[in-house]
Parts: sequence; structure tokens; C-alpha cells
Amino acid sequence: AGSLDVAAVRAQFPLVAAGQQLKRPLAYLDNAATTHKPECVLSSQEYFYRCANANASRGVYSLAKTSTKLYEKARRMAAAFIGAADDEIIFTSGATAGLNLVAFSYGANRLAPGDEVAITMAEHHSNLLPWQAVAKLTGAKLVYLLPDEEGRISDEEIAEKVGPRTRIAAVAHVSNVLGSVQPVRRIADAVHAVGGVLVADCAQSVAHLPVDVSALGADFLAFSAHKMFGPLGTGVLYGRRELLEGMEPLLRGGGMIESVFEQDAAFALAPARFEAGTPNIAGAVGLAEAMRFMLELGYDAVRDHERHLLERLLSGLAAVPGVRVHGATRADGTFEDDEPLRCGVVSFNVSGVDANDVAAALARDNVAVRAGAHCAEPLVRFLGERATCRASLALYNTDEDVDRFLESVEGAKAAVAIMIMASMH
Ligand code: PMP
Repeated sequence: AGSLDVAAVRAQFPLVAAGQQLKRPLAYLDNAATTHKPECVLSSQEYFYRCANANASRGVYSLAKTSTKLYEKARRMAAAFIGAADDEIIFTSGATAGLNLVAFSYGANRLAPGDEVAITMAEHHSNLLPWQAVAKLTGAKLVYLLPDEEGRISDEEIAEKVGPRTRIAAVAHVSNVLGSVQPVRRIADAVHAVGGVLVADCAQSVAHLPVDVSALGADFLAFSAHKMFGPLGTGVLYGRRELLEGMEPLLRGGGMIESVFEQDAAFALAPARFEAGTPNIAGAVGLAEAMRFMLELGYDAVRDHERHLLERLLSGLAAVPGVRVHGATRADGTFEDDEPLRCGVVSFNVSGVDANDVAAALARDNVAVRAGAHCAEPLVRFLGERATCRASLALYNTDEDVDRFLESVEGAKAAVAIMIMASMH
């Protein structure tokens, strides 16, 4: 812990280090899409394939035992990481798979006509489309909590939208468009008060803020490894034990049964019940290593560093005329419990310039950002845009990355102004 030694951190990421060697160094600001991987994660996966590769939970020979041991050790790491019990951790292929599992295994069997599922207007499609489908299937209704100017769900909005009919509230801890940190705990308290459950989508928070199931009041919680410096194709779904016990599996196949007969089957207990098929053992091993990496750096140090970068980025953008930043213009709120207000995902529009053109201009300067609706079309429409440009930070970013981004945005604006003037003559 302590403060972050960014140079040392960057040296641990082969692609970040390589990007720095370029004549025009790469400023990678697309971390909300996926993060780069440190050496320790890469080598833990390679170690698995070179030295321990066998199917888990099946063989009795020593290699299979090693593989099983590594897989279960990864599960214990994930459990400790989010404050859960080992058997409450289901390894998935990512946040999308986890959220679909909750919607279809829990939601589809619990919801009835007239019931309500509360989500926010700031959900990624992964935490919207499964609920939309399940609502259609069951006759339940989707109710939207609307974010305020700073991208946050207010107490009034919670009081108004979470009521006696709410069975499920499903909320992104951090928005992948606005970077806003939602008051998940307060939404959980409201939905628990009416006997419902809280589903937390922590895909965008886990690389930036501590994620603890009790602190958030989450009954289910999902995230992806690849957005927190772990491998692609791996994720975690947490489910409270009492809830998992009563749930039907979504996928059926090997490794998840108690016994199978010609016409019927009895399923294993969680987590095996929800992990049909050969698991991504190397992915779980890599994810556990990414968690160890995060804990070693310490979330306080990461947050301090990212807050500094975020303030630099926000004040820089505020100084560029014609740039509109969506959501909060500061990192920290003034809430009684001192919650963070915003993480380093910053969506903006440049007046008169298409977001895709801004991203393309930045790409020419080797500044990597993303333009589009970011898999959150209802939110982008709510913001009054068809697309936004999005810069997103991670712990290995530097002041230089932010400054190159800001220069490039100014350059893009100037280039367009010249084109417009030329077209008027
Ligand atoms: N929720 C949020 C808030 C996200 O940002 C993302 C990824 N963009 C997801 C869910 C889905 O994650 P994945 O694509 O890794 O399944």
C-alpha cells in the first residue's frame, strides 16, 4: 500500500510498456472496455497450462488434483476479495453471463404479473436486456430510476420508484458512460425493506473501488475479470447462499449433478450447480492473480492516483470551449458517509463535431478512446445524444496520458473549425 509508484506499475504491463516506446506513445484511455494485463496474471495462466493442465473436479491422478486445487484456491480468493463465503462464488464467463443467470434462474421463477424490477437509466445493456426479457416472460414491469445532473440516483428517486411491488432492484455500481458511483447500499436498504433483492453490476467498479457484498447490501453481484487486469472470458457471480439453494440451474451438463436418471436428474448444490461444463480454470487462476495484484497495490492508493488523474482530466476538458462533459464535474461528493461520487469514466461531446470523428482524430494522435452508445442506448438518448466520446482511466495512466488526450481534443476541435470556415468561403 502507500502511494502508487506509477512507473513501477507501468513496467509490469507489457502492452503499456510497449506503448510507451512508440515514437508517438500510446495513451490508452479505453479501460472501461477492457484493461491490460500485468506480467503476474499472464504468467499465472501460462503456469497453469504448462504445469497443471487437467480437468478440475474429475480425475484422481495428481495433475487433476493440482488443477482442482488451483481452481478452488481461486474461488477462495474471489470469496475473500468480495467478503463472501466460498460456496457463494460462481465462476462465469463474465458479467453478462452472471447477470443473465440471475435474471433467468432467479427472476424468471420469482416474478409475477404486476411485480416490478427497478433498474436505473444508466444500465449497460447486460443489466437491462435480461430483465427486459424476463419482464416480458413473467408480466413484470421494468421501472427506471433516473440519474440526476451528476449521474447519480437521488434519495427522492429511490423513495419514489422502489415500492411494495419492487421484487428486484438491479443497479450498476459505477456507470460505464457517466462514471457515476451509485448509492447501491441505499437502494439495497429500500428494496430489502419491501422484501426484494438487490443485484449489483460491479463490472465498472471493481478495478477502482473496493467491492464488498455486505457493504453494498448485495444479494447478487457480478463482474468480469478482464476489466480488472484479469483474463478475458472469466467472471464472478456472487449469490447469497439461501437464494442460490432455491434456484434452478440455467445451463445443464457435466459437473453440476447429484445423479441423473433417464427421465429426471438431481442437481449438485451451489456453486457446482451453476457451473455446467468444463470451467475456465486458467481464467479463474488469472483472475485470482489479478485480485492479489490489486490488493497488493491497495484500493486507497489506486483511488488517490485515479482521483488526481480524473480531476486533471475534468478541469482540462472544462477549459475547452464547446466541450460538454456528461455527469459530475468532480470526483468526490459531499455525502455524509463520504462516498465517492465519480470514477474515471468520462463521456463528453464536442459541439458541432460527431463523437466518432473526435475518436478518429484522437486515434491519429495515438490516444485510444471510444465513441458510440457504449452498450447503454437508453442512457445516451436520455442525455440527448446519439453517441458520446468516452475516455476511461486505469491505475497505470499518467498525467502525460491525460495531457496528450486534452491536447488532442483541442486539436480535433481546431481542425473542425478550420474545415467549417473553409466551407463558408
Ligand atoms: N456492466 C457494465 C457496467 C459494463 O461496463 C460491462 C462491460 N462493458 C458489462 C456489464 C458487461 O461485461 P462483459 O462484457 O465483460 O460481460
